[in-house]
Amino acid sequence: MLKRGSTIGILGGGQLGRMMAVAATQLGYRCIGYSPEGDNVAAEVCEDFFTNRWDDQAALAAFAARCDVVTWEFENVPVATARAFPSDKIFPDPKALETAQDRLNEKRFIEGLGGKPAAYAKIDSQSDLEAATDRLGAPGIVKTRRDGYDGKGQWRIMSGRDAAALKLPDVPAIYEGFVEFDAEFSVILVRAQDGEIRFWDSSRNVHESGVLAASYLPAGEAVEPQVERARKLAGQVADALGYVGVLTLEFFATHEGPIFNEMAPRVHNSGHWTIEGAATSQFENHIRAVAGLPLGDTRTTASAVDMRNIIGRDIEGAHAFLADADTHLHDYGKSEVREGRKMGHLTRLTRA
Ligand code: AMP
Repeated sequence: MLKRGSTIGILGGGQLGRMMAVAATQLGYRCIGYSPEGDNVAAEVCEDFFTNRWDDQAALAAFAARCDVVTWEFENVPVATARAFPSDKIFPDPKALETAQDRLNEKRFIEGLGGKPAAYAKIDSQSDLEAATDRLGAPGIVKTRRDGYDGKGQWRIMSGRDAAALKLPDVPAIYEGFVEFDAEFSVILVRAQDGEIRFWDSSRNVHESGVLAASYLPAGEAVEPQVERARKLAGQVADALGYVGVLTLEFFATHEGPIFNEMAPRVHNSGHWTIEGAATSQFENHIRAVAGLPLGDTRTTASAVDMRNIIGRDIEGAHAFLADADTHLHDYGKSEVREGRKMGHLTRLTRA
């Protein structure tokens, strides 16, 4: 167990790191962040913050020397950066990053465990794309294999004509058949160093333009019967990766059962409701796991919870939502308000 007063290093400087650092501080730890130049909103709540490139070996060594354990809040931390730390000092194991950073590897890994992703094809050229749309049909989505998030690096293909007209990005990609889903949901779990796994209730997630807009609990009848199968897969993923910390898998609920969409080897936007809506939040349990502390109870403590993201300029009037006593506001403190940017979120609890 990490002693009180120990220092946890967090790779990445966004809102997930900010909320993680708040949870760590509550447990008596100090946090130091590390991220390249940017709007690193985690820095405000960290004891110190390194603003350095991911490949700055001297800075990484200085950071490592000050940390008792290191984790990440950002899934695109380069694997080489994560591997710069001794394996008993970084959690989860960096192989989780390696698996999740490439959509093709990720899907093959999931299939190897018996999970079912959307139909897909690897595409490296225009002729691959045309062959893929012939084989899998349209509509579908071209996705870059790496570095996509919040719908970035994705192009909808409605017909063979769209496929012919698309100027493919000059990076490896996949074509994915469009899934006719009834709902989307996520499975969020925490796995401790001794292998114990706990799951939070699954929320139904609604996306707008590829970005999470809201999460709802209870998840409803399209989702609930599919959660057990999805959890089984998520548990297998965590065990196979020797995972320590919070892991998220996103699914489409379909009439054929849960279809795997993607995994995030980290705390997740669809788990923000756990701060007020569960006995222990995803952030606190992530810190407990990486620190070797006992895990907290993951039970939902309200009869209904909804979490809505605040995107772009809507943050400016967000304090007004607090007129409702059951609503909680999280403002990420981002200085630059941009259209489409996640600026904060609101969680509303219903207590029966
Ligand atoms: P992703 O970044 O891959 O999770 O995609 C963002 C969102 O786009 C998903 O949560 C879905 O709402 C939608 N989406 C992505 N891939 C598919 C697909 N194959 N079929 C249907 N919708 C999709």
